[in-house]
Amino acid sequence: MNPQKENQEEKNRKFNKRIFRYNKRKRYNPEQSKTQEMENADYRKIVLNDQMISVVIPLYNEEQSLMELSLSLKRVFDILKCNYEVIFVDDGSTDKSFETIKEIHRRNGRYHCIKLRRNYGKSAALSAGFKASKGDIIITMDADLQDDPNEIPELIKKINSGYDLVSGWKKIRYDPFIKKQTSKIFNYFTSKVSGVKLHDFNCGLKAYKKEVTGSIKIYGEMHRYIPALAYMNGFKVTEKIVKHHPRKFGVTKFGANRFLNGFFDLLTVAFTNKFMKKPLHLFGFLGVLSFIAGFIITLYLTILKIFYDASISNRPLFLVGILFIIVGFQSFSLGLIAEMITKSSSHDEDVFIETTL
Ligand code: UDP
Ligand code: MG
Repeated sequence: MNPQKENQEEKNRKFNKRIFRYNKRKRYNPEQSKTQEMENADYRKIVLNDQMISVVIPLYNEEQSLMELSLSLKRVFDILKCNYEVIFVDDGSTDKSFETIKEIHRRNGRYHCIKLRRNYGKSAALSAGFKASKGDIIITMDADLQDDPNEIPELIKKINSGYDLVSGWKKIRYDPFIKKQTSKIFNYFTSKVSGVKLHDFNCGLKAYKKEVTGSIKIYGEMHRYIPALAYMNGFKVTEKIVKHHPRKFGVTKFGANRFLNGFFDLLTVAFTNKFMKKPLHLFGFLGVLSFIAGFIITLYLTILKIFYDASISNRPLFLVGILFIIVGFQSFSLGLIAEMITKSSSHDEDVFIETTL
């Protein structure tokens, strides 16, 4: 045999052996790879014709995660084969986040950046991203690699099956113990107040129809309540279990004050939704209640005084009765003033139209 040919055959044999060992190590299974291919083919049907997807990513000092995140997003969209854009919202980062995004944008024109002048907070960053997004479906995710881009196809699937908002549920989550527990309490109350049965309101990974992002106003720490706000305005909201990862780089951007601020925002959500346009209904009701209680107490004491000649000025109940009456008046007049403010600044109520014919 030709020694050159023999040499080549020996090389091929060695190469095949190496591949075999590699496949064995990776537990390669041709059947499995087939299903992967089929899955990929299925993925192509997930995004409807001419549907565009926008990914909005708020970030604050996340320079180390951005390149990896943009690469894994690209892998997902390469499979989905659809029209898409990725909007990074740089919420006043002081590290090299913006430079990194500039480089990402230079390499791929589908990646954009909105750079805010200072750190406004996640809600404001999301809001700016929503305004700029052109997609029919908007996906939001955190920039710290805790949310998994591979969940995006399933979220889109759910939206296309008729939901307006799909919220991620980090069933198994990789956060500190204290955060997980407080989050449970917070989720319980938000669910009770809003009436929408979700397990995880504050998951960064969510999918929206553009009608939702176009109509819901968020500020402060309100991003936690988007599903609640959407639900209370008549949108169809659901949840989907998603994978969660531990933070790989950097630190969390929310300290202990998240709990107090979050609580105040919950009150705002509950209040503005129910009583924004009719504050007298709340304050008037409380005022009348307090006034009646005060009236009954003082009437009782007056009867004691007149008919039984009892001394009432030294009784604590006397003060309580008077206090109730004063608080009643105060609350009622506060309601009246609030009502006047609402009327004078009144514009058309924000109604959410589903369709018109
Ligand atoms: N973030 C932001 N502005 C802020 C704080 C946070 O844009 O003022 C971003 C942050 O970079 C991340 C996401 O919001 O992409 C979630 O923040 P983080 O991971 O710190 O929250 P956690 O996962 O600890 O709840
Ligand atoms: Mg995080």
